[in-house]
Amino acid sequence: MNLDRARILKDGGDGRGPVVYWMSRDQRVEDNWALASASELALERRAPLAVVFALEEEFLGATIRQYGFMLRGLEMVESALARKGIPFVLLRGDPGDAISRFAEEEGVGTVVTDFSPLATKRSWTEEATKRLDCAIYEVDAHNMVPCWAASPKQEYAARTFRPKVWRILSTFCEEVPALRAHPHPWDLEGGPDWERLRREISVDRSIPEVGWIEPGEGAARRALETFLRKGLSAYQRDRNDPSLQGQSNLSPYLHFGQISASRVALEVTRSGADGASKAAFMEELVVRRELSDNFCFYNRRYDSFEGFPAWSRGTLNDHRDDPREHLYDLPELEGAKTHDRLWNAAQREMVCRGKMHGYMRMYWAKKILEWTESPEEAMRIAIHLNDRYELDGRDPNGYVGVAWSIGGVHDRAWGEREVFGKVRYMSLRGAMSKFDVGSYVEWAGSLE
Ligand SMILES: Cc1cc2nc3c(=O)[nH]c(=O)nc-3n(C[C@H](O)[C@H](O)[C@H](O)COP(=O)(O)OP(=O)(O)OC[C@H]3O[C@@H](n4cnc5c(N)ncnc54)[C@H](O)[C@@H]3O)c2cc1C
Repeated sequence: MNLDRARILKDGGDGRGPVVYWMSRDQRVEDNWALASASELALERRAPLAVVFALEEEFLGATIRQYGFMLRGLEMVESALARKGIPFVLLRGDPGDAISRFAEEEGVGTVVTDFSPLATKRSWTEEATKRLDCAIYEVDAHNMVPCWAASPKQEYAARTFRPKVWRILSTFCEEVPALRAHPHPWDLEGGPDWERLRREISVDRSIPEVGWIEPGEGAARRALETFLRKGLSAYQRDRNDPSLQGQSNLSPYLHFGQISASRVALEVTRSGADGASKAAFMEELVVRRELSDNFCFYNRRYDSFEGFPAWSRGTLNDHRDDPREHLYDLPELEGAKTHDRLWNAAQREMVCRGKMHGYMRMYWAKKILEWTESPEEAMRIAIHLNDRYELDGRDPNGYVGVAWSIGGVHDRAWGEREVFGKVRYMSLRGAMSKFDVGSYVEWAGSLE
């Protein structure tokens, strides 16, 4: 492994004792650099190895829709690990605390964890680092180019980030070694009763799980294969048309780490699909996705007005008191009760399917800015709805997508107009010129 992929958070202890991979963002067995590093370390030291997941209930407004998807995926992780002789342990409670206690009770020698730029995981990791007596390493198993290696600072836009990533991408494009069976047993309490856990966890159950997408590592691979065979060649042409199914639908898998972005990129590159479509897809998967991690890593205010660039804060302040032609509150927006049938259709798509089309996400968030009292209120509502309904919510892509739409993050100034100031505007008329709005509205109306 390229050593820049890992960071030492704390060197400590004598290194003796079992090795733990504290799995959080990267919930898979294959193509996982954090797990591969933990395994290699344990084999080298002839020490036992376990994968530990700490389950925080009531996580950033997630509902049974997201918990169900995640827990079903983790159940498959447990089975795959068992085949390699590696125990899987599920702890409940505050993760920073739970991991620290577990490590102390079990005399753990080293903890390896995966990386997330988001505040919650960072605070869990900080807490664990403070309390652990043993060493803890962090491995960026999510990004193709580790976030700290891609750039040492917050990037302005895709145009400044793109050359940095492409320049060093090849040095990080190695195949992750296949996980080896672990020969040093660790007799830990067995994994959870998954059925019971799904029934018992205290989460909001008012937003149901969805049936159109199957969770887990195997399903993620199958979704990728289907996309390579049937969708990729038309990606460039169809991806921005919400009346077609032109996207890959990989974001829920990428969000929960049920598939690695590097695997997706490798298979896309190897495929015989149309070159322009491959390039368009790689731009989203590599540049846009990893730029979101860059923003959240270097900007602690990634989910608020204060995180916007100075030009957009200025222009939005100039237009703060502009009259709004329509004003809606959260229940009206949540219930898709606006005057705009296209917006209502997008909201319905999100509520019913847990995944709104990418083009509609931009339109949807921009209209929330147009129809609420302030940019702060627009941010609050858009993030709340995105995180509550989307299967891929609570992701850097979500915070950045909302901030791009409402606060011009990674965008440039456009012609000035009411409410938006110089932040890019999108209109129903523009949408109608791009795709068959009627057909999308009709389709969304048929969703249950
Ligand atoms: C307001 C708003 C909210 C968003 N919320 C989320 C969210 O909660 N979670 C999320 O993963 N994405 C979010 N996005 C980004 C993007 O819309 C989704 O990643 C994409 O629609 C997911 O569908 P897909 O996997 O089928 O995409 P595809 O078009 O098949 O793209 C493949 C992958 O490339 C990446 N990608 C594509 N578009 C973008 C983009 N604009 N920015 C960053 N990465 C991208 C994603 O990882 C995606 O899975 C949001 C965008 C906006 C404007």
